[in-house]
Amino acid sequence: MKFDTKTVQFQQKMDAANVSKGQPIYQTTAFAFKDLDDLEDFFRGKKDFLYTRVGNPNTDDLAAGVAQLEGAPKGVATSSGLSAVLAAVLSFAKHGDHIVACEDLYGGTYQLMAHELASFGIEVSFVDFTDLNEVEKAIQSNTKALYSESVTNPLLRVENIEGIVSLAKKHELISVIDNTFATPYFIRPYELGVDIVLHSATKYIGGHSDVTAGVVVGREEYMEQAKNKVVNLGANLSPFEAWLACRGLRTLSIRMERHAKNAQRLAEVLQGEVGVKKVYYPSTVSEKGNGAIVSMELDETCDVNEFFKSLGWVKMVATLAGVDTSVSYPIATSHRQVPEETRQKLAITPGLVRISVGIEDSGDIISALKQAVKASLR
Ligand SMILES: *Cc1c(COP(=O)(O)O)cnc(C)c1O
Repeated sequence: MKFDTKTVQFQQKMDAANVSKGQPIYQTTAFAFKDLDDLEDFFRGKKDFLYTRVGNPNTDDLAAGVAQLEGAPKGVATSSGLSAVLAAVLSFAKHGDHIVACEDLYGGTYQLMAHELASFGIEVSFVDFTDLNEVEKAIQSNTKALYSESVTNPLLRVENIEGIVSLAKKHELISVIDNTFATPYFIRPYELGVDIVLHSATKYIGGHSDVTAGVVVGREEYMEQAKNKVVNLGANLSPFEAWLACRGLRTLSIRMERHAKNAQRLAEVLQGEVGVKKVYYPSTVSEKGNGAIVSMELDETCDVNEFFKSLGWVKMVATLAGVDTSVSYPIATSHRQVPEETRQKLAITPGLVRISVGIEDSGDIISALKQAVKASLR
C-alpha cells in the first residue's frame, strides 16, 4: 500500500465477525471472559484485551496506524505527547544514564528533561545540534542516546537526521527523534535509521485541536519496554481520545498537502510585507512540501499587541497544528521559561510570531495576516 492509502486503511482491531465501516469506540475499562480457559488465553497471547490501561482496540489502532506510516514495526499510544517523550526515554534509560539532547527542544520536553529526569537519576546535556561536532563532544561514557526533533520550534530548523544516525551508530547510542512538526507525511526518521520516533498526536496526527495524545514507535525491543512503562506508570490513552486521533489520522495526507501549499504561499507573501523583518519557512523538509508552520519576526515599527488584536477570525493560542489557522507568541508561551540569554541565542525575540497555517482558502489566510501586520504598524 502507498502512504496515502495506509493513512486511511490502517487496521481496525477486533470484531472480525462484524466488521463495521467506521471503527466503534470501545469505551470500556475491561473485557469480559467466558471462563477460566478464555481468561488464560489472554495470558497465552491468544486474546488481545484484558483491561484498558493494559490495552484497548482504539489505542492499539492509533499505535499501529502511526507505526505503519512511519514504517516502524511497533508503536505505543500515550496520554499526551509529553508522556510519549517519557515512555521513549524510559524505554532505554535507567538510573545513572546520560542523554545528549538538542538545546532548542519544545518547551514542555525541555522542562521534562531539565527538571524531572534528574529524579529518575537520568542526566541530560543540551547542545546545539546544528553542529554535530558539539554533539560528539558532549558524549560521555554513560551516554545512552541522542535526542532531537526533526523540525524545530519555532524557527523551523531541519535536523540532519542522517548525520545524527551515523554519529549514534559510531558511538553505539540510541537515536530518538520527535517527529511532531514534520509528521510521517514529510519525513520518516525510522526509515532513515532512527531507533525511536515519537509524536505529540495533539498536533497534526489528531489535527483538529480536540484531542491530547501521544505515540511512540520504533524498534521492537524498545517498544516492549515503552509499553511496560505506559502500563506501569498509568500513562495510557483513553479509548475516546484514541478514536478521535485515529479519525484525524485518516485525513493526514490531504491535510498536510493543503497545509503545506498554504504555508508556502503565505511565507512568500509575508517576505515582502512592510514591518516584517524576517520570515522563517524551511525549504528542505521534503519534496512533498515543507510543512505548515511559518514564523516571522515583526520589526521595531510594529506594535506586536496590535498585531494580535487585529487578527479577525484567526485565533491566538498556545498550540499549533489544527485545520484552522492560528498564531502563537513563543516568548510568552512555549519559550516563557527559557532563560533570556538562551532565547537571544536561539533568536526568539519579542517580535517573533509563529503562524500555524490552516487548510482554509489561502487568499483568506493571506489577507487576514497581511491586514494584521498592517494594523500593527506604528
Ligand atoms: C506539543 C508538543 C509536545 C508535547 O505534546 P503534548 O501533547 O502537549 O503533551 C512535544 N513535542 C513537540 C514538538 C510538540 O509540539
